[in-house]
Amino acid sequence: MTVRIKLPKRRPFPTKNPIGDNWSQHKDDLREDFHKHCGYCGSYDGFSHTYFEVDHFVPKSLFSKSGNIGFCQYDNLVYSCKFCNNIKSSKWPSNDEKIPNLNNKGFVDPTLAIYDTHIYRTKSGSIRWLTDLGKWMVEVGFKFDERDFCVKLLWELNQLRISFLFLVDEAKKYDPNSQQHKTIIEKAKESAFHYTLYRNELDEYYKSL
Ligand SMILES: [Zn+2]
Repeated sequence: MTVRIKLPKRRPFPTKNPIGDNWSQHKDDLREDFHKHCGYCGSYDGFSHTYFEVDHFVPKSLFSKSGNIGFCQYDNLVYSCKFCNNIKSSKWPSNDEKIPNLNNKGFVDPTLAIYDTHIYRTKSGSIRWLTDLGKWMVEVGFKFDERDFCVKLLWELNQLRISFLFLVDEAKKYDPNSQQHKTIIEKAKESAFHYTLYRNELDEYYKSL
């Protein structure tokens, strides 16, 4: 399956028009356009496991020298978890702002469908590669292999969250005294129970870092 549940899509006309180094003013638009998930690893931003940041796809350090890309240029920005943003950092193997990847090293804009042709998510939630460029992104670009424990945990938590919300909606369709309603509520309780266990595990894990 794909790393992100839904492909992010940047709007052509952002709500705000910041200048200088005020790119964070684009964060609300980006959050919506990236469906509240990290553009790179697909983690949901509601678990407060990390701060979500605005990443510059082509690193600032590179284009600030050439001056062809603006700091606030919306089509170069990515809604990203702190981990992906920090690990990606200023890596840009081609050293050319127009060439995101070269000789199977570098990145793919996460709003392009081809992002999902290089890496994928396994049934247990890990992020693995499909191509040599994908291997570079997993092992070097974002270090998804080193982060496997929390990548899987965050994915599992998000699945439980989605399943719980679905069941709560389903339950509303039935008479509260009906057997169907009771069965759905039991399933929802089960999801909530597992969610709490995973959530505690995640909190403990981040405390240990
Ligand atoms: Zn991420």
